[in-house]
Amino acid sequence: MNVFAALQAAYPADRSRVAIETDTGLLYTWQDIERATAMLANLLTSLDLHGRTLDDGTYLPPVVAAHTDKSVEALLLYLATLRAGMVYLPLNPAYRQAEMDYFLGDAQPAVVVCAPADFQWLSRVAFQKRVRHVFTLGTDRTGTLLDRASFMSDQHRPDVFESTSLCAILYTSGTTGRSKGALLTHGNLLSNARTLIKHWGWRPDDVLLHALPIFHIHGLFVACHCALLSGSKLLWLGKFEPQAVLQHLPQATVFMGVPTMYSRLLAQPGLTRSACNGMRLFVCGSAPLLPSAFADFAQRTGHTILERYGMSETGMLCSNPYRPADGPRLAGSVGPALPGVEVRVVDDAGSPCPAGAVGHIQVRGPNVFMGYLGMPDKTAESFTDDDWFKTGDVGKIGAGPDDKGYVSIVGRARDLIITGGFNVYPAEIEDHLNQLPGVAESAVFGVPHPDFGEGVVAAVVPQPGAHLTEAGLIEQTKQRIANFKVPKRVFVLAELPRNAMGKVQKNLLQKEHAALFGANAG
Ligand code: AMP
Repeated sequence: MNVFAALQAAYPADRSRVAIETDTGLLYTWQDIERATAMLANLLTSLDLHGRTLDDGTYLPPVVAAHTDKSVEALLLYLATLRAGMVYLPLNPAYRQAEMDYFLGDAQPAVVVCAPADFQWLSRVAFQKRVRHVFTLGTDRTGTLLDRASFMSDQHRPDVFESTSLCAILYTSGTTGRSKGALLTHGNLLSNARTLIKHWGWRPDDVLLHALPIFHIHGLFVACHCALLSGSKLLWLGKFEPQAVLQHLPQATVFMGVPTMYSRLLAQPGLTRSACNGMRLFVCGSAPLLPSAFADFAQRTGHTILERYGMSETGMLCSNPYRPADGPRLAGSVGPALPGVEVRVVDDAGSPCPAGAVGHIQVRGPNVFMGYLGMPDKTAESFTDDDWFKTGDVGKIGAGPDDKGYVSIVGRARDLIITGGFNVYPAEIEDHLNQLPGVAESAVFGVPHPDFGEGVVAAVVPQPGAHLTEAGLIEQTKQRIANFKVPKRVFVLAELPRNAMGKVQKNLLQKEHAALFGANAG
């Protein structure tokens, strides 16, 4: 089934009800969504665009790339692209010339939609890459996209698509190497949305406070699909601001955020039990949530954050339980595999690890993507012969009575540090550092070392008012863990470098300190 057809089937009987309310006071009814997406879909169809057949024979419909700031119209463009049977490619509007050169060259979209302020440079890049149409879309309902769509009919019948039809490309955050375009189908998105809606108990009277960006799986698919396909209302914030979230919480029932958002909310005195009175669910994901933030949030609000795990290639994979009867929500764990999703942990040779042992996380299910655009070798490398996708994450599946079947992420495989022949998992060292007095958070990474191959290095952020020294931190760590795991150097920083989704960019730390031990980094 087509995702858009599923959305139409979820419209409430009374389409004059408000579906989206923005922080600028705009109201969009379900009928507005129906009409606006029809007009945009008719515009896209009128352009007479052609898809292409990929090397493996898969048909890739025309690609619509969106390099726009967050707005409800940008969401409508996404929905309209699916409605027209085309493929949506969201791109971070912070990307500049060199990045867009790569993405447009790689994905070869037929249409690019950008912010009016970026039109000049972006249209030049786009035309060099033979993009046929470049439209603009502002955050205030301005731009050529809506101008042109306003002449279109508001009637449109979505085509019927196979669940294997492609409908989106998400580029992986790619903190190392070239970013890869994950090809996703209607079936991938729909199966995951339906699983989450059921698992997290979505109801038509829910109100989602939407503060995430919409160029990423979390804000676009997880958040919008759950709300829209449940016929629930969205309270739409143009961007995340802790004050704005607090102001709108009393009208909401569900909030989804990345760990940095939760830390920023915790820094607000206004985050109290009464501010969260009407809430039923706080979801966190995209990066690990610190156990201290998990505990502080529960203590301040009375709500236990539900942490979940997923990735662009697969949608959501694991989730802590929603219903108390299904088990507790555990700090530091992403919960068991979601219904219909298989998760296993294997050793370097590919054999399943015993419960509790750390290994490579592999997954299988209807949510797993088709492959990487134009990279058949990378696609082949990423799957086992029996079709398990190698996530690149390292973790374990709990064995104990409390965490049986619960998955814990230890880190990305490529972040593993091998020092003097010993494996060091950064998350384990970070865990120890974070427990030291005065430490707010930390990032542990490896840099080339002439003797050991790699040397363990830490960046540590102090809690407000705390005074930390390198020597003191190293000394205290030595008392807790084996010497080979103790960071050889510790840097005290005001904050860790993070990308837009709150993921710590260890590659930047590694680059900055590549020459620390005088080894040849090449
Ligand atoms: P992306 O494709 O940009 O969503 O990144 C996916 C990656 O983010 C995963 O492979 C994990 O490494 C990481 N990730 C997502 N959710 C979590 C989580 N709850 N805890 C730890 N890491 C996470």
